[in-house]
Amino acid sequence: EVRVRFAPSPTGPLHIGGVRTALYNYLLARKLGGKMLLRIEDTDQNRFVPGAEDYIRQSLEWCGIELDESPWNGGPHAPYRQSERKPMYLQYAQQLIDSGHAYYAFDTPEELDAMRARLTAAKVPNPQYNSITRAQMRNSLTLPAEEVKQLLESGAPYVIRLKVPRKEEVRFNDLIRGWVVVHSSSIDDKVLMKSDGMPTYHLANIVDDHLMEITHVIRGEEWLPSAPLHVLLYRYLGWEDTMPQFAHLPLLLKPDGTGKLSKRDGDRLGFPVFPLEWHGKDAETGAPTVSSGYRESGYLPEAFINFLAFLGWNPGSQQELFTMSELIEAFSIERVSKSPARFDQNKVRWYNEQYLRAKPDAELAQYLTESLQGQGVEMPTSKAEQIAALVKERATFPADLAREAQLFFQRPATYDEQVISKKWNAQVAGALKEFAGQLRATPDTSPDGIKALLTQVLETQGLKIGQVLQALRVAVTGAAAGPDLMHIMSILGAEETAERINQAVA
Ligand code: GLU
Repeated sequence: EVRVRFAPSPTGPLHIGGVRTALYNYLLARKLGGKMLLRIEDTDQNRFVPGAEDYIRQSLEWCGIELDESPWNGGPHAPYRQSERKPMYLQYAQQLIDSGHAYYAFDTPEELDAMRARLTAAKVPNPQYNSITRAQMRNSLTLPAEEVKQLLESGAPYVIRLKVPRKEEVRFNDLIRGWVVVHSSSIDDKVLMKSDGMPTYHLANIVDDHLMEITHVIRGEEWLPSAPLHVLLYRYLGWEDTMPQFAHLPLLLKPDGTGKLSKRDGDRLGFPVFPLEWHGKDAETGAPTVSSGYRESGYLPEAFINFLAFLGWNPGSQQELFTMSELIEAFSIERVSKSPARFDQNKVRWYNEQYLRAKPDAELAQYLTESLQGQGVEMPTSKAEQIAALVKERATFPADLAREAQLFFQRPATYDEQVISKKWNAQVAGALKEFAGQLRATPDTSPDGIKALLTQVLETQGLKIGQVLQALRVAVTGAAAGPDLMHIMSILGAEETAERINQAVA
């Protein structure tokens, strides 16, 4: 059985990169009839941010990403929060010590700093606690056994580190990148258990993925450098045979492609990088901050996930619009790209337009009446539906509907000057006046009926429709552009249209 997990750390709001990771996990699980679980990786208590877990939960709910097992709905491997699993990890660190693959290290922060300073001064490119440096440090591989025992008994602070072999090739087959080969000299002796008795991310992650029977680890590219270390951990714990398959997703780049997408790019360029609005604190000053969210900006979840799915994956066809179930059907890891995906805010707007305009008019009318109620405007449902159907082609967000609908409730206060100076003259004004008069008496106020009447009136005046149409639009709406004019007049009704024309002509 396929089992995948999304394993966020509650260190802040979920970035769109994180939501994409959750989405790909979900799509694969559903596609292959497997299970999707969520595990909260909260072993780093210094970075814990209150509210982050709830934010993660609400974001996934909004996106329609369902969890089979999680801290919130439980499951056979509960608990699903690492802080609640704390007692489970030590035995595995102990197992690694017993088999000679891990050791106690007693170095103080000052000693570690001194080591790094020494290496930096000697121009060692990437100072590490590794097979070379550990020989000079205070740990159970360099101290006499008796002293180690005493230190442990006296309660001296220690960490447990992995003993990474000096020269060995570590390799694994990434489902997206193919074979990844790393030399062990570039891996440091990572801490597995911290001095506070908490496991580090690396140990907890491997132990939990094993105990939770994870078959595929799908995560962001930033974790690729940790993967060789994880392979070593699986091997030394004796779990290599059931090691999950790895798939590291491509980076998300800024719109101009110059680097990793960050929260600041969104603020600078005016698009959200978070699914939901986030109320946080400035890291330096502690002042409250608000980061905008897709939901609050008027994006529809179906547009958002369709857009996200395409950030690093494509179906291999021309089709761009996919519902969640179509994404599940079409998804495969093989079609996830190795190369970074560039974020494109125009594309996400385009998706929103497609999904908004495809909604039934009754639903759009609902959005419209709700926002208009806020402005104190009431209107019958049938009228709201007609207006929504007409103006939706000009809307990207639900709120645009109400903006575009204003012309139905407000007579023009000004008239587009360009059009007036170019298209308005006595003959046109006279024709419009005649049209207004006849409109009041016509039985057929459908768009087609109005158009027929207009054509007929203009004929008797020796004018063509192209000579008056813009002037008429400006007379009725004030603006030079907008939705189809015949529909506008039909919805306004004969009386209101005629009054507006007469007001303009006067
Ligand atoms: N807790 C890690 C994170 O926040 C999970 C990485 C992984 O999926 O292994 O991204």
